[in-house]
Amino acid sequence: MGRAAYHLDLGRHAARLLPLLEALAALEEPTRQQVAQLRRRHPRADGGFFSSSQLIAAYRALAPRQGWRRPAEEIARLLRRRPVRTASGVAVVAVLTRPHPCPGTCRFCPEPAGMPRSYLPEEPGAQRAVQQGFDPYRQVAIRLQALAANGHGVDKVELSILGGSWHAYPEAYRRWFVSRCLTALNHWPQLCSADHPTADGRAGWGEVEEALASNDRAASRCVGLTVETRPDLVTAAGLASLRRLGVTRVQLGYQSLDDGILQLASRGHTVVESRRATDLLRRAGFKILAHWMPNLPGATPDSDRADFARLFDDPWLRPDELKIYPCTLLPGAALVEDWRRGAWRPYPHDVLVELLADCLAAVPPWCRVARVVRDVPAPLVLAGNRRGNLRQDVERQLKERGTPPREIRARELRHAPLAGADVVLSSRTYETSAGREEFLEATTPSGWLVGFARLTLPSRPAPLEQLQGAALLREVHVYGDVATLGRRDGNAQHRGVGRQLVVGAATLARVAGYPRLAVISAPGTRTYYRRLGFGDGALYQYLHLAPTDGLDRGAGHDRQDQPHGEVCAHPPVLAAGDRGGPQRPGGQTGQIGRAVRLA
Ligand code: SF4
Repeated sequence: MGRAAYHLDLGRHAARLLPLLEALAALEEPTRQQVAQLRRRHPRADGGFFSSSQLIAAYRALAPRQGWRRPAEEIARLLRRRPVRTASGVAVVAVLTRPHPCPGTCRFCPEPAGMPRSYLPEEPGAQRAVQQGFDPYRQVAIRLQALAANGHGVDKVELSILGGSWHAYPEAYRRWFVSRCLTALNHWPQLCSADHPTADGRAGWGEVEEALASNDRAASRCVGLTVETRPDLVTAAGLASLRRLGVTRVQLGYQSLDDGILQLASRGHTVVESRRATDLLRRAGFKILAHWMPNLPGATPDSDRADFARLFDDPWLRPDELKIYPCTLLPGAALVEDWRRGAWRPYPHDVLVELLADCLAAVPPWCRVARVVRDVPAPLVLAGNRRGNLRQDVERQLKERGTPPREIRARELRHAPLAGADVVLSSRTYETSAGREEFLEATTPSGWLVGFARLTLPSRPAPLEQLQGAALLREVHVYGDVATLGRRDGNAQHRGVGRQLVVGAATLARVAGYPRLAVISAPGTRTYYRRLGFGDGALYQYLHLAPTDGLDRGAGHDRQDQPHGEVCAHPPVLAAGDRGGPQRPGGQTGQIGRAVRLA
């Protein structure tokens, strides 16, 4: 695995690069505008400009020799292309599984030759997968290289495995795919394409376990692992296998919550399966990202509004995250026939924007809307939305209405510095089929979300023996630029916010009478939880909550990952009466910790 794409012949370009980089290193507090000016002032010999990845690579190579004191990582952050890619705190690496039949026959789903079902070879992520022959190791490697070359940190990676229905692939292939992805992370930055000990696409549990164990100490750690599947393929018996692979989140295709619409789309499952799968996954601690598709055959804007409301009215659903993909006509889908005979028509743009604005406004503050449009190149769309910036149109409409969205993504603190800010810990409470959900939020006084945690307090027996009697910590997320482990700066990932959220969750669970707290850790977050006092189990990590919650033991040992911030180890918890009353989907809120000023 070479670095050819980002290779720069330093010798050939040195005469032009050196004055540019020297000027950059000498700037007091360089801005993006100043960098742009320097680029224009010092063009390449052919008249073009040096790219960000070239400047970053050259600075990394030359800084030690030249004695430039500004750290290369600071330059990388400044030159970073598309900073949004890592603004949520982790670098997302999406990879595709090989072509394989899906048990579904959905009419809107394309089936291009040589691709996993539903993916077009022209989609940006799919192109990379095709170029790498769907090899998991090479897909991860090429993505890490590209992100790093463009100034992004890759020490914390969310691995997103796409490709139709995960459960439709043979188990030996699933094991192989995950272990090869993790091996690439484990090898970073010393990648080696020749290393293909299991290139036949099969692996045993031993290989998975070895790759998972090594990731704990890797330079690029997997802090989340997502797969996508159909609701009818999620079974109680399959939950342990997902955990053995290190999966922490499942993308579930609901598409609609109306059995008539599901039937017209030839979806092959009913709403019952979506409810059951959501319930099972939540009770096993997984995060749930649901896909919902307006404008399916048979739907109208008003029926879609009613359908969307079911997502949050029904306690058996209430997903943690959402992708809204309006139905569009893609080549090769059976929907083309429906369109030709007039049985399906896309909503006009203004109708679609109006509908999506109503939907976005109705999303509760504990749900994150990851997307409102699928990343399909416009020329491929035969009919339906072609605007890649549909979300901006929808958000503009909400702004004009004076009703800004409350969902997580609209409140995320991204690159804003935190130094000197007070952060308040509070919790929103709502009910699901699994029991009581506590959505713990760390927010600034102006309401920006610094971090959050999802705690499930189950009211029914767990679907896995390992979770009996345990409260479930399903997610802890802290915003800010991707943290380089041990770095001290103004962003939230270094200020003890994660620790506060875990302490808050443990306190709520203990007060609710649970003797232990189980966390669904990813392979690369286990060390962090150990430092907080959690012990390892086969599928989860556990914190014993009685008589003390064990966080006292962990205090002071998490300095490397979370070096700053006062910690209130036992924050005052709201009295039960404050949390009573009927639970609305938006959740009751109450402060559970004192305000903490971040240094
Ligand atoms: S289940 Fe998903 S991948 Fe399979 S046919 Fe339906 S939409 Fe396509």
